[in-house]
Amino acid sequence: MKSITRILIANRGEIAVRIARTCRSMGIDVVAVYSDADADSPHVRAADVAVHIGPSPPAESYLRADAIIAAAKKTGAQAIHPGFGFLAENADFAEACAEAGVVFIGPSPDAIRAMGSKQQAKHHAVAASVPVVPGYNGEDQGDDALIKAAEDVGYPLLIKASAGGGGKGMRIVRAAAELKAGIDSARREAASSFGDDTLLIEKYIERPRHIEVQILGDQHGEVVHLFERECSIQRRYQKVIEEAPSTVLSAEQRAEMGAAAVRIAKAIGYSNAGTVEFIFAPDGAFYFLEVNTRLQVEHPITECVTGIDLVRKQIEVATGAPLGVSQSDLRIAGAALECRIYAEDPAQGFLPATGTLVDWHLPEMEGLRVDTGVETGAEVSVFYDPMIAKVITWGDDREHARRRMIYALRRLSVHGLTNNREFLLSVLEHPEYVAGNLHTHFIAEQMPSWSESPTDEQATQSAVAATLHAHLIRNASSPVLPNMRAGFRNNSHTPQKQRWMLGDDAIEVAYSVQRTGGIAVQVGDYESTVTKTELDGAALVWTEDGVCRSARVVRDGTRAFVQSLDAAICLHEEERFPVRGREVPAGGCTAPMTGRVLKVQVAVGDSVEAGNTLIILEAMKMEHAITAPESGTVAAINVDEGDLVDEGAVLLVVESAADSE
Ligand code: ADP
Ligand code: ADP
Ligand code: MG
Repeated sequence: MKSITRILIANRGEIAVRIARTCRSMGIDVVAVYSDADADSPHVRAADVAVHIGPSPPAESYLRADAIIAAAKKTGAQAIHPGFGFLAENADFAEACAEAGVVFIGPSPDAIRAMGSKQQAKHHAVAASVPVVPGYNGEDQGDDALIKAAEDVGYPLLIKASAGGGGKGMRIVRAAAELKAGIDSARREAASSFGDDTLLIEKYIERPRHIEVQILGDQHGEVVHLFERECSIQRRYQKVIEEAPSTVLSAEQRAEMGAAAVRIAKAIGYSNAGTVEFIFAPDGAFYFLEVNTRLQVEHPITECVTGIDLVRKQIEVATGAPLGVSQSDLRIAGAALECRIYAEDPAQGFLPATGTLVDWHLPEMEGLRVDTGVETGAEVSVFYDPMIAKVITWGDDREHARRRMIYALRRLSVHGLTNNREFLLSVLEHPEYVAGNLHTHFIAEQMPSWSESPTDEQATQSAVAATLHAHLIRNASSPVLPNMRAGFRNNSHTPQKQRWMLGDDAIEVAYSVQRTGGIAVQVGDYESTVTKTELDGAALVWTEDGVCRSARVVRDGTRAFVQSLDAAICLHEEERFPVRGREVPAGGCTAPMTGRVLKVQVAVGDSVEAGNTLIILEAMKMEHAITAPESGTVAAINVDEGDLVDEGAVLLVVESAADSE
């Protein structure tokens, strides 16, 4: 058996931090690698040694196999853990590690290759008598062949990138008229994301569930499964909330699916951790989707219900050690949930967001695990995945885990960046979710036009909290007469005023400190008396009309972030001289976020209809279509393909048809 005492983690963010945790618990030294953008990030601090491998774009750092292997050699690491994403499913990298005499903690290059293309993987599944989704899986990739295949498969159908992952390069096509455009854009996304534009076509299964089986194998041919995870809560074909076990599988189905997964794994001589994904149709039939030859984002929920540290097992079997666990030893205990916290805007089609994390804070509680690679002050840049953390809870059963998740998320303070915390809470409290009636279109169907807006009461309470906070801060720093409180006026009829903006709404809090020391508060019709205040760091506690309340208040310039039990609210202290917004000409189409112009679909003078795609922008590894706001003529185009553009930049201008008449 090989001895592994020092591991290089070829990844960043939460997964690098999580792998480092297990290494430490095993007494193994950790070597981190980092790009320019990550020089000061938690994953670097979680390591014993850290090696700078290049600039921020992944292609120049985390995807540079040579630099990473050189870093391992230089620091004396005997093994490399790839995490997920980046080089995790790159067979050439696994091979290069072996050639350099470094252990790759994952399956063999052959197994990665066998499952790397969805096309090949489906052939292996069929050979192992595992059902696959009917469709086209052929070599001929010409338009004619694909169009012909689509006709045979029938509508609705799904076009997939054979090399795909993370939901990228996938297009649902419901009618022949949409087919050509679907093929073109899937091909483009496949080529740019994976460097391989091979497509496959599958029958689209309506309202399915996504259920996957965790497998674990050693280098001696032993393979077990660690039951299933249900990952049906998705947006953009990407998972947002996962749970284990699935509410829908019977004991027989669980055993059947597990056995199918083990069959595929054994057929290709699979070792290490992997995941066999299935699509589960409403009639109870299930079909093989793909094998992810790596640790999966949602692996923690399996760890919670089986009590097995998957990263530890990965490291052990990579040394050549036997699995040390047999199928009959494995049980599911209780239930676990995972929520992915993304920097994205659920009210705007889940558009990824960038910016600075002004506050990141979670309570400590039983049954809660948080895997994160960010901390207060972190910068979420355009270079990497917008997932900033995973919140995991477990309990005696699903409902217990769900209650704990709600409890934890309501107290999670994640401010400064648009994020999906509130949205996750809405899903968790949705009656259909509570009932376990899940399918992959749950979000699209059940929450089509989700948006968050605090109630008047929540807005008022937050404004009061922010005002008390500002008052206490002023009080603490006030150099005036020591026993005269800031805000004290001889004439108690002229209260102090603090104005806040909540979106476009102004909230004015009037308050006056009374001789008794109490503070009389007025917000519109609302009046109260605050008798006690206490500020400890960001934690504000105050007694208002006899009720002791608490909130977390964090300031960033003119912004005040208030996190209370009921709401997370961002208030702006009204500035005396409001800054004018950037001028956008009428009909101007702006970039929703910083990104790169992939394609300009129109030319000056073209007439366009409202909703037509004009420009395709790529940001955070996803394509975003910039569409015409109204019908008219393209009057100006300010960008070229390949340009990097800032958020808010005017990309092109459409002159309204109505104006020119
Ligand atoms: P899963 O099936 O486990 O959800 P996906 O198929 O969505 O996994 O792929 C995992 C994705 O994780 C990759 O496509 C990549 O975009 C993303 N990723 C890669 N590295 C990281 C990281 N360090 N932190 C967060 N996400 C990452
Ligand atoms: P990726 O490599 O991007 O993870 P998958 O093939 O695993 O691609 O599919 C991702 C998601 O797309 C699934 O979880 C499911 O929601 C949906 N999906 C995939 N294939 C089908 C299908 N044939 N019918 C319906 N939905 C599908
Ligand atoms: Mg998948």
